[in-house]
Amino acid sequence: MSTTVETKAPIGRAFIAKDVQVKNELGAVVVAWGDGHTSTIPIERLRGYCPCAVCQGHGASQVTFIKNSCRAIFDAELVGRYAVHFKFADAHDTGIFRWDTLRKLDPAEADRWGPPEESLRG
Ligand SMILES: [Zn+2]
Repeated sequence: MSTTVETKAPIGRAFIAKDVQVKNELGAVVVAWGDGHTSTIPIERLRGYCPCAVCQGHGASQVTFIKNSCRAIFDAELVGRYAVHFKFADAHDTGIFRWDTLRKLDPAEADRWGPPEESLRG
């Protein structure tokens, strides 16, 4: 564990989204977090790791990347205070991403969270 990780804000605030912006022109979703970090997450990556039961199977113990070429999101709405519901441009509309799931998909923090196949499991 590096010094950089240890000096970061408490982990709970890393899982509070302050702002979620769909930027279809970038093919990405930009999220501002409670610990001051900003994530830029490719839509193709979000679609590929969509946590819904259709994509990942009911009660599946594995998380797998669904190959896709989705570059846009038609609609995004908050689900309570803990998640966001994306309607992808490929007509897939059952994906609800909890804040911790979203954060762990930030490719810039791959070293912090580890591969989604492991960090999103369970
Ligand atoms: Zn899905």
